[in-house]
Amino acid sequence: MQVVKFGGTSVGKPERMKKIANLVLSMEGKKIVVLSALSGTTNSLVKIGDFLLANKTSEASNEIEALEKHYLEFVKELYESAPYQAIGEELVSRYFSLFRLLAAGKFDDRGYRELLAQGELISTELFYHHCQERKINARLLPALHFMSIDENQEPELEKISERLKPILEAMANTNILITQGYICRNHNNEIDNLKRGGSDYTASLIGAAARAEEIQIWTDIDGMHNNDPRVVKKTLPIAELTFDEASELAYFGAKILHPSTIVPAQKYGVPVRLKNTMDEKAFGTLISERGTSGQFKAIAAKDGITAIKIKSSRMLLAYGFLRQVFEVFEKHKTSIDMISTSEVAVSVTVDDDKHLNEIVNELKDLGSIDIDKNQTIICIVGNMLAEKEGVLKEVFQSLAKIPIRMVSYGGSNNNISLLVETAQKEKALNLLNEGLFGL
Ligand code: ADP
Ligand code: ASP
Ligand code: MG
Repeated sequence: MQVVKFGGTSVGKPERMKKIANLVLSMEGKKIVVLSALSGTTNSLVKIGDFLLANKTSEASNEIEALEKHYLEFVKELYESAPYQAIGEELVSRYFSLFRLLAAGKFDDRGYRELLAQGELISTELFYHHCQERKINARLLPALHFMSIDENQEPELEKISERLKPILEAMANTNILITQGYICRNHNNEIDNLKRGGSDYTASLIGAAARAEEIQIWTDIDGMHNNDPRVVKKTLPIAELTFDEASELAYFGAKILHPSTIVPAQKYGVPVRLKNTMDEKAFGTLISERGTSGQFKAIAAKDGITAIKIKSSRMLLAYGFLRQVFEVFEKHKTSIDMISTSEVAVSVTVDDDKHLNEIVNELKDLGSIDIDKNQTIICIVGNMLAEKEGVLKEVFQSLAKIPIRMVSYGGSNNNISLLVETAQKEKALNLLNEGLFGL
């Protein structure tokens, strides 16, 4: 069994949705097809939700109306026959009535999450009816029946696996099962999601839960590139990556994968293949246990980082100091990405500053605090054995003109992380592209 996930752009136009049906049909064996919302839909739902939370009801109505128009056009082109045109129109009218109902009531966080979930529910239903129209034997597999997260927002892989088993057995005669990416239920059984870009994570969770042969992530680019193609002009696809390398790249900002995608796949050794819907023949990237050589393989960057420096003379020779620091972050469920220490100070970075004020207030008991916002972590991934000479030399030579706030190296053999001001990111990524890859 394979899990094949198609992202927003891959389903964003009627002709692309039709193409995906052909692609899935051409694949052998059983497939669980995970779909994202049509491109732009989740952004639009976020806008509607934000308007409603701010009581801007007329702005929300305008956005709903524009989105509805888009969907009516979409079904017009997707379905060929009159009966399916009618099904399409009914489907759009049903979803948009729900949006208007949600908008008319008392709109809260729960309503917001329910609203966000509709994008994937519509796209899978549209695709399912397209398959029906073409007499393709496919069934809907509702993600809300098996995908769940716990009170810490962590996916419950074992429970997902237990719930999936009988469902998949009951659908044993169908080779194409269509399910929603991104959406799930939380510990209160409410509708929730796996955060933006979460459909990749869904695919990996299902692949791990069902012990699939392979997880394929189909998107709008020919695999993981050596650098961020949104920032750097000349980038190249990488044919193979290890789970560890891909995991670091995803976590540190390579948008092609949700930050946690690799974790479940790696746990059960299920290979992840990245493929391009716009260029099916391109090799893409294979992510597996197996590694290939190459000192520097890729670079990613993660914005929105805050650096916190705790300076304390008490740190000198004091055991237990770091534990006290970490406890403050643990208490506020805020994870630390980078850390660097000296005799008198420790600097850490966080990407979530929701509890920054509380954290800083408590850290003040341990020393004086400096905060730097608008930072970016640049993560260089490859086989950089610490025993090998000159690894850092090339990196620092490339970045000779960029002020570097923090460095982390030696934690693993496949990562060097650097902290720079976000304003320096573009320059730094381009200089590294030239210096490390000669591009
Ligand atoms: P989807 O909608 O299919 O999930 P995304 O937009 O989430 O697609 O991810 C694909 C995009 O990720 C690409 O179009 C590309 O701009 C961006 N991206 C960022 N970093 C990388 C990278 N290192 N390699 C490939 N793509 C990347
Ligand atoms: N539709 C969701 C988003 O835009 C999930 C996804 O596309 O992966 O974030
Ligand atoms: Mg994505």
